[in-house]
Amino acid sequence: MARKGKAVICREWNKPVSVEEVEVESPRRGEVMVRIKACGVCHSDLSGTNGTIPLPPPSVLGHEAAGVVEEVGEGVQRVAVGDHVIIIWIPMCGKCRYCAEGRPALCDASAKAAITLPDGTTRYKDSSDNPLNQFAGVGVMSEYATVHEDNVLPIDPDIPLDKAALVGCAVMTGVGAALNTARVQAGSTAVVFGAGGIGLNAIQGCALAGAQKVIAVDLEDKKLAFAQQFGATHTINPRVDGDPVAKIQELTGGGADYAFECIGVPEVIGQAYASVGKGGTCVVVGVTRPEGSVTLGTFMMPFQEKVLTGSMYGSARPSVDFPRLLALYQSHRLKLDELVTATYPIDDVQRAFDDMQSGANARGVLLM
Ligand SMILES: [Zn+2]
Ligand SMILES: [Zn+2]
Repeated sequence: MARKGKAVICREWNKPVSVEEVEVESPRRGEVMVRIKACGVCHSDLSGTNGTIPLPPPSVLGHEAAGVVEEVGEGVQRVAVGDHVIIIWIPMCGKCRYCAEGRPALCDASAKAAITLPDGTTRYKDSSDNPLNQFAGVGVMSEYATVHEDNVLPIDPDIPLDKAALVGCAVMTGVGAALNTARVQAGSTAVVFGAGGIGLNAIQGCALAGAQKVIAVDLEDKKLAFAQQFGATHTINPRVDGDPVAKIQELTGGGADYAFECIGVPEVIGQAYASVGKGGTCVVVGVTRPEGSVTLGTFMMPFQEKVLTGSMYGSARPSVDFPRLLALYQSHRLKLDELVTATYPIDDVQRAFDDMQSGANARGVLLM
């Protein structure tokens, strides 16, 4: 049965978002409707409102959510009505080359369904009966959302849904960049550029892996204070401390073993690459504007054997990683409670976006 509820909509780039009543269609074959209970406000949603991530409006925003299954379509096997689920913002088909290789974050299906369900259509309509896109293939900043069953993972109902939601993007992306993509070694040194929601989780991923030094770089002292809470052993504010690369080389005796760029600024990607020493690994997590580019000196490349790689969704394998991350939370080794520094009703979403931009929050979460 179709449902009506409030949803956060981007009507036009560089304009405030709106909260509107939408109609959410019943799940079709292989789909599920989720009653969303909590949705994190991620920098990628903001990037969706200003064209940095050029997914066309009008769309229902949101991709970091958890909720309760309300209705299932024909043939659904993964979940049943009443199950608690985390939204996975990449549909992982399980059949393509990358899924078969155990790298479902690179699934071929994801590029095909960036603003719709995998069949190319959407389940939202506005009050004038016009279809609305589903941001990142899910669009879950909404009281109800219909998504493909490949986009949900059932979890232990004891876990609070406002914390579980964060595992669906920020935690998976940041901790995964450290543990899955870079495979940070115990005793190593790491630097994380940008201490927002993703960066804080890259920091806690490095700390979990046993890095001896975790250096956080950010222009905001407030964010550097959060960074220390999540395991940073050293902080650098380039406004005060000057060139971060020189400082990192000094702190690490010639360059870090790992660097994570969690902002999406080409110049900072260059700094991150320069910050790692011989044999080190530089991981690009931040999403730049489509035209972004960076120039790297090539002469030293063979002599240094540095690795430069991207990290998509923390190289997530949700059915392996989400239960692991939640178990680490339950044993008090992964900080999720500390991550949620403010909650908002859906009507206050613009304030949540403003607070994210001012750096007031580790993470702000909408509660439905
Ligand atoms: Zn996100
Ligand atoms: Zn696939």
